[in-house]
Amino acid sequence: MSDTHSLDTLVQALRRLPGVGVRSAQRMAFHLLQHDRAGALQLARALEGAVQQVRHCTLCHTFTEGEICSICADPRRDASKLCVVETPADQAALERTAAFNGRYFVLMGRLSPLDGIGPGDIGIDELLARAGDGVVREVILATNFTAEGEATAHVLAQALKSRGLAVTRLARGVPAGSELEYVDLGTIAHALVDRH
Ligand code: ZN
Repeated sequence: MSDTHSLDTLVQALRRLPGVGVRSAQRMAFHLLQHDRAGALQLARALEGAVQQVRHCTLCHTFTEGEICSICADPRRDASKLCVVETPADQAALERTAAFNGRYFVLMGRLSPLDGIGPGDIGIDELLARAGDGVVREVILATNFTAEGEATAHVLAQALKSRGLAVTRLARGVPAGSELEYVDLGTIAHALVDRH
């Protein structure tokens, strides 16, 4: 066994993060061990706590520590409007505009056949069940304006419409190829108001 076995294990673990290759992983590991051991322990505890505590809302699939998230549990939200987004970050972007008072369904991803992500992986059956609960009157597709986000919106629209549900899409104005998370609030709010 090498005398840096634990360090090697740490580097391998850091490489699990998206976009982190072996060199960045080594830099992070060296930094933590050399300059911030207290921070490293804090990181380890935060990771463990989050993995143990955070789960998915049974209604909208976003991250929550309870059975149901605070938005789904809020009686002041309009249950007749269901906004479909790709990620909790996109949901947060819409929430920051304060232009939407309905509820959400968070896909926790997008269709991506090349990566083997199909309809089952983004909870399409759960979405159809939720949208067909008799309370939802309009489903607003707010997937990103990327190729995969548009393809996802197309597939979801077909499935929802075939069940007689009213479907709208965020209006253009959000630049093509962009992710909601990075779009300014005014643009998102307009896209929401002008949905069609
Ligand atoms: Zn929820």
